[in-house]
Amino acid sequence: MSTPKLTAESANKVRGLLAGIPQQASGDRRRTISVRSSAVTIDCPAWCTDPHAETYRSLEDVSHRGDQIFMTVPTYNGPTEKALIAYISQWPFAGDRATAVPHMVVETVNDGDCVELNDSEGIALSDQMVTHAAAFRSMALTVSNAQPKPQPAEGCRVARCDGYFHGEDTCSHVLGKLPMGEGAIDVELVSEQGGPVQAAVFSMDVPCDDNLLKTSDPAELTALAAKFRAFADTIDRAAVELGGQA
Ligand SMILES: [Zn+2]
Ligand SMILES: [Zn+2]
Repeated sequence: MSTPKLTAESANKVRGLLAGIPQQASGDRRRTISVRSSAVTIDCPAWCTDPHAETYRSLEDVSHRGDQIFMTVPTYNGPTEKALIAYISQWPFAGDRATAVPHMVVETVNDGDCVELNDSEGIALSDQMVTHAAAFRSMALTVSNAQPKPQPAEGCRVARCDGYFHGEDTCSHVLGKLPMGEGAIDVELVSEQGGPVQAAVFSMDVPCDDNLLKTSDPAELTALAAKFRAFADTIDRAAVELGGQA
């Protein structure tokens, strides 16, 4: 049997046929899936994370699906909720031109109501989100700037003192809190009864001695911070060791 000679005419014919067959994009993987009782080989795009493990009733039911992304937003008096949920999808064999190619599926709020977006619609929506995020942030800053300003007392000794304890001749400014169960460890700058400005690291929830540290010496604060940092490393190590137990 001799190999048939490839003429210019037959080569053109082959090229014409090839043009009608979707080319395997780079990164696609060949997957053997189960359709009814037959094994069918499909090209699965690199972004698809669907294992295609199910037995499909027909080829039309086969879709590619990427990982879901979403924002977590607070809700009134409840747990957080997902918003702006999105993933990539493609239904290559379902016969609908819009969804036969890769597209985005977007669920604005977590109510099952989806919209399909093509590439330019996805980019337009993301541009809108960037603009919205900037306006949202600017609104938060407006709220921050609109907060009532503390009225510093005569001879206030702590910068940014909120004036809350002035009846007791005490200035204080809370720098931060580390929540601990029902309570918290606080860090604040304080001047009590006209005394020197001190930094206090304390918890209202520790019964006898409520101060972890109260000092005017920055070196003592740095030393305590180093202790906390070392303790945080220990917590990290516990996580690693716990992971190794499995
Ligand atoms: Zn796939
Ligand atoms: Zn004050």
